[in-house]
Amino acid sequence: MRANSNVNGEPTMNQIDTPAIDRAHAIEAFRRDIDGIACLTGADDLRIKARDYYWYSPVLEALLKDYRAEIVVLPTSEAEVLRIAAAAARHRLPVTVRGGGTGNYGQAVPLQGGVVLETTRLDRVIEIADGRVRVQSGARLEPLLEAVRETGQQLMMYPSTMSIATVGGFIAGGSAGIGSARHGILKESGAMRSIRIVTLEEVPRTLTLTGADVEMVHHAWGTNGIIVELELALVPAVDWLHCIALFPSYPDVVRFGRAVLASDIDVFLLSGVDRRFAPYYTDLQSHFDGHADAMFALVNPRDRQRFADLARSFGGSIDLCVTEPERVQAGLPPVHECAYNHTTLRALKMERGWTYLQMVVPAPFDPDLIAAQMARYGDEMLMHHEFARYAGGPRMSGLVLLQFMDEERLDEITKELLQDGCHVMNAHVNILEKSGRKQMQAEEIAFMRNVDPFGLMNPGKILLQG
Ligand SMILES: Cc1cc2nc3c(=O)[nH]c(=O)nc-3n(C[C@H](O)[C@H](O)[C@H](O)COP(=O)(O)OP(=O)(O)OC[C@H]3O[C@@H](n4cnc5c(N)ncnc54)[C@H](O)[C@@H]3O)c2cc1C
Repeated sequence: MRANSNVNGEPTMNQIDTPAIDRAHAIEAFRRDIDGIACLTGADDLRIKARDYYWYSPVLEALLKDYRAEIVVLPTSEAEVLRIAAAAARHRLPVTVRGGGTGNYGQAVPLQGGVVLETTRLDRVIEIADGRVRVQSGARLEPLLEAVRETGQQLMMYPSTMSIATVGGFIAGGSAGIGSARHGILKESGAMRSIRIVTLEEVPRTLTLTGADVEMVHHAWGTNGIIVELELALVPAVDWLHCIALFPSYPDVVRFGRAVLASDIDVFLLSGVDRRFAPYYTDLQSHFDGHADAMFALVNPRDRQRFADLARSFGGSIDLCVTEPERVQAGLPPVHECAYNHTTLRALKMERGWTYLQMVVPAPFDPDLIAAQMARYGDEMLMHHEFARYAGGPRMSGLVLLQFMDEERLDEITKELLQDGCHVMNAHVNILEKSGRKQMQAEEIAFMRNVDPFGLMNPGKILLQG
């Protein structure tokens, strides 16, 4: 496995430095070897398929905007993935797997060019059974959720990007989402029952990981095998109510979030949003107009009254509480598109000066700490927190909106938040370990070397290990 340096000049795994002329020949030979498999080579396609949502970060935008794929392949079956993997290994071409391309950290940017393998045509739902679904990795999450709901079941978790994001992309790039208020983060939820991968070798293998082994591939950013199929756990479906509770202050929202998680009220999403976000919620002006701070929630109809009573006890009131058909009829957005990184997206669509920071607030979460941070940062920072479960306890994660000044100010604020006891996950780096969600263990590195002996998978994203 060769080593070189990444976009920041740090040594990383899997850097390939083939001379340009050899690379052009390799791409040609690769293309001949995969004859009959759909591919794209137009300049626009090579640019667009090398991007994801890294532009949320001006730091990453500057670093990553010029990268390009050299060929995009669109397999429709596992057999085609096996042919692509064999050909890429034979010609020593880097392979970056791409699902819907909604990742925030440039995870799917091909730093060494080469092949971008997009999975969106590998999208078959193979089997829906009691408590589980088997699905190809390129299936988008929203249609998958619709399919399983026809059997009276639902997914345990999905990202707010469910209409574009793929199952494989969520497992390889995501970590938590809508459903974490009930089931915890992906890693601990039991949602991932098995993952089937194709190795990147001249004679590729398929491996099916089950139990704790799924962790090798989960949130590894596509560096250790091409996920082709997954089995996910299902739970009985609930007709969640889309609710907005309004409060006199943001610390009241925090108090309420803490109380909901301490109760047995069944919520699937619990997302606190500062009133100053209201100008970016143009499709919700009649419900969230900037005069109060909000908790957006998906609530089990069984607990509707208890949810409302609890909100009232913190000075709040329920402004909206509708079923899915009522929401659609009223022309309102789904609550999940008011939460997670959709908050940031809403602001960025209207004003490009914003970026964001990700953190976990120390438990037990203290509304006074949030009030102090609001006083410290004023209009430089708008508050948004996801209330979820983690390791059997409550968890409050900040996805705060921040006026971007420069990297120095970003570092300064990060230091202050660390001093507050927050665990900051750096959303402005393109290196897996530095983003703070996963440290590759020796066992995982050994697995990576086993399934990708030439170091071709998504090069540049993992720091060099001994
Ligand atoms: C508005 C917005 C909201 C978001 N909300 C959430 C959220 O609630 N929760 C959350 O966790 N994330 C969230 N994200 C991040 C992202 O949308 C999710 O992680 C999403 O699930 C990624 O899916 P994707 O198909 O777009 O993956 P991509 O962006 O295409 O890929 C993500 C990573 O997975 C790898 N990968 C993709 N498919 C495969 C495969 N088949 N085999 C191996 N590796 C693969 C890629 O190489 C890349 O490293 C959000 C992003 C945005 C822009």
